Amino acid sequence: MSDFLIVGGGINGLLLARKLAAADADVVLLDQGRCGKEASWAGGGIISPLYPWRYQSAVTALASWAQEFYPQLVAELVEETGIDPELRRSGLLMLAAEDAAAARRWAVRNRYKMETIDAAAIYQAEPQLARGFESGLWMPDVANVRNPRLNQALVASLSSRPNVTIREQCQVIGFSSHGNRVSGIKVILNNERGELEADIVVVCAGAWSNKVLQFLGLSVEIEPVKGQMLLFKFEQQPIKSILLNQGRYLIPRIDGHLLAGSTLEHCGFDKTATETAKQSLLQSAYKLLPMLKQHEIVGQWAGLRPGAPQGIPYIGKLDNFENLYVNAGHYRNGLVLAPASARLLADCLLGNEPIIDPAPYLPANRH
Ligand SMILES: Cc1cc2nc3c(=O)[nH]c(=O)nc-3n(C[C@H](O)[C@H](O)[C@H](O)COP(=O)(O)OP(=O)(O)OC[C@H]3O[C@@H](n4cnc5c(N)ncnc54)[C@H](O)[C@@H]3O)c2cc1C
Repeated sequence: MSDFLIVGGGINGLLLARKLAAADADVVLLDQGRCGKEASWAGGGIISPLYPWRYQSAVTALASWAQEFYPQLVAELVEETGIDPELRRSGLLMLAAEDAAAARRWAVRNRYKMETIDAAAIYQAEPQLARGFESGLWMPDVANVRNPRLNQALVASLSSRPNVTIREQCQVIGFSSHGNRVSGIKVILNNERGELEADIVVVCAGAWSNKVLQFLGLSVEIEPVKGQMLLFKFEQQPIKSILLNQGRYLIPRIDGHLLAGSTLEHCGFDKTATETAKQSLLQSAYKLLPMLKQHEIVGQWAGLRPGAPQGIPYIGKLDNFENLYVNAGHYRNGLVLAPASARLLADCLLGNEPIIDPAPYLPANRH
């Protein structure tokens, strides 16, 4: 029997497994597909909430901790696995910001680097940008990471540890319980039904977390929010920083890829990439970078964000069961928040002093 069984191998499950394994616990990580291939693969990898001032302090607290920790995490992974997730501090330029005054007040309060810049500075920094932008908010410390590579590096690192077992294509289909304890985890592995045991079970199943918890008659307010994205590729990257306008963004990767995102769609668990979304994303992208009209799209995909109220994740013990925990509901910010979220839950599971106040994320406080 393992010490911890984690349901879901997205960024949140992978990073939690890493923390627990580092404390010498025996960890089993299950995924119904392959680890790191759902939202954590589909995301843009911006290491900041898009409009950080629009979130509550519970999101800011996790984001601030994680943003500072990211360079260390990536350096450790490169050292351990040789896989470089290409974390890069590209900065983020927000154009025609509707709530610039609120943003600036928030930045001062949170000691967040943010500058108002005029047209001359905008076009000096980004000469290819469409004409007509008069001012912008420049956030120089915002980074982006190639999240598929980050997941790959985490899987490689975990796979090399003797106290971690990763089981892919292993779907959780129910639980057994005894009194106030989860006593078994029912799974389908290689088309066969089985039951696993663990001292403590943690649900990190992203958009599917509520489905998993419903097997025990529990619920959390997490619903899938579909996001679609387009990909371009250039010999020479046409932009330097992440560009954001009216909720849509362009992200430059080091290798010349450029991502254009993203839609927000409430349509259940459907992950189909659609022509309507493609046209809508293209329109937004052309408004920022007209030269894209001369370039072909090389990819389009969709992922399911785990949408929780106010984007505040559920982190902690669930009602009624003494050995059942959750770490899910990171909505649009799972890639930035995950290191702090995993650390906070690991602190709680291992009896360490928590990095931040766990109260806002506890399922018991969220009814
Ligand atoms: C288009 C888009 C753009 C985004 N951009 C950003 C961004 O720039 N920055 C940012 O911070 N965040 C971004 N996000 C959000 C971020 O991707 C998510 O918040 C984050 O990936 C959630 O991670 P997770 O591990 O909770 O979920 P997931 O990565 O979805 O992982 C959950 C895992 O659970 C598994 N699972 C589910 N049910 C079961 C079961 N019954 N049994 C076993 N396994 C199960 C799934 O197979 C999956 O692998 C974006 C998301 C999208 C879709």
